[in-house]
Amino acid sequence: MACPPLDVLCIDDESLLRAYLTDASPLRGNLPQAVLFPSDAAEVAKVIRWANKEKVAVYPYGGGSSLVGSPLPFDGIVVDTSLLLDLEVFEKDKLVLAGAGWRLSELNHVLRRYGLWFPVDPGSVEWATVGGVVATNAGGIRAVKYGLTSDHVRALEFVTPVGEVVWSGAWAKKSSTWLRVHQLLVGSEGTLGIVTKALLTLSRVPERREAVLLLFEEAEEMGEAVLDILELAPSALEFMDPKTVRAVNSRTDMSLKMPEKYLLLVEFDDERSSEKTKLILDKYEGIKEDPETLWKYRKLAGPSLTLVKGSRSDWDVAVPVSLLPEAIKFVYENARDWEVAVFGHAGDGNLHVNLLHPPGEEWVRKAIEKAKEIICEMSKRYKATVSGEHGIGLLKLALLGCEVDEPALELWKAIKKALDPNLILNPGKKIPL
Ligand SMILES: Cc1cc2nc3c(=O)[nH]c(=O)nc-3n(C[C@H](O)[C@H](O)[C@H](O)COP(=O)(O)OP(=O)(O)OC[C@H]3O[C@@H](n4cnc5c(N)ncnc54)[C@H](O)[C@@H]3O)c2cc1C
Repeated sequence: MACPPLDVLCIDDESLLRAYLTDASPLRGNLPQAVLFPSDAAEVAKVIRWANKEKVAVYPYGGGSSLVGSPLPFDGIVVDTSLLLDLEVFEKDKLVLAGAGWRLSELNHVLRRYGLWFPVDPGSVEWATVGGVVATNAGGIRAVKYGLTSDHVRALEFVTPVGEVVWSGAWAKKSSTWLRVHQLLVGSEGTLGIVTKALLTLSRVPERREAVLLLFEEAEEMGEAVLDILELAPSALEFMDPKTVRAVNSRTDMSLKMPEKYLLLVEFDDERSSEKTKLILDKYEGIKEDPETLWKYRKLAGPSLTLVKGSRSDWDVAVPVSLLPEAIKFVYENARDWEVAVFGHAGDGNLHVNLLHPPGEEWVRKAIEKAKEIICEMSKRYKATVSGEHGIGLLKLALLGCEVDEPALELWKAIKKALDPNLILNPGKKIPL
């Protein structure tokens, strides 16, 4: 373990390096040699140029909330982005130029002063950083109305894998000028460059939010309701299956208890919210509650399922919305030999297939095999994408070929090799070389 001879804040004490061995996935990395904390693009560039000279792998690490092992180091050095904290708000144009290290909850805390917010709202909002959501093209609970991260990235400042600082993208809403290299970085999981600043489009903070929880006996009924409610432009449309409901109900820190059915959390945030919630409560069985309580219930889905067996792997498949009920049933029928629970972003056709298992590498390996079997078939039958929002990282590498064919993979490899000739940036993730 040793910090490189660079004038950049660095730690190499083994007890501190251990914090980087994990993210929110069931995987584990290896101890890096050191962790560096650059405070601007020039310092990131200095680190990257040194790494190229020494042929040392570099792992960008944001909030560490990845569910697929994308930031985990395997020797080499980690670039922790938490000191990349520049911030300029352009209130009239509803834009922010934010350093990659800003956690979304903290960024939104500042933006609230201007009546603005960055509406990409993953369940990990307290944890995830601007750089992390850009690098994974994160979605989240309000993507159904506000879109994905890619819809909000107008331009990026980033450091290339050979250490050049690049700005890509226009400030204006319209621009046919640029080769959209900045969008190539969106979802590239730290393999094509380190994002240092992002120019992001914002929305006005909604004046009101109203939410209801609807109950359904069958996935098909819920699926019909999803298509119906989408016509009303909800700001969130989230589902939980009966198994997930049971897991949340079993918590002592959650006073709300719901029947073990399919639940649909529907939220509206426009001026017709009251009228719309009344309309759907007249039509479907459900309850109206304080939105905060309902969101607390929904956000406990993942953590509660982890407690069932001690660990879980989350496979965030997405299908065309109309195929959601069939896809859910397919999962149950084909994972009878596993304890499985499904929840997710119904409005985007994004189902989180959770395989529940005890902790340990052997179980993760078995889960990958099972997920590959199920999701490859779903890709053929239901036009499923392997990852709706979490990315590929390490966990899903074995599944990539189910969706992305050989010519496309060859193109990915050619791009990676052209930009990163020494293959130093987040090697082994996303792009199978
Ligand atoms: C409880 C929970 C709920 C979640 N809910 C959602 C959800 O609703 N929607 C969703 O989309 N995701 C969700 N996630 C997944 C996760 O939060 C997202 O993938 C998030 O975007 C990762 O951000 P991060 O800052 O933690 O990145 P990290 O986990 O640190 O890294 C993720 C990837 O980004 C790269 N990276 C990080 N910073 C940079 C940078 N500056 N430049 C280049 N590459 C970089 C890393 O190398 C890695 O490949 C959830 C996770 C948890 C634990």
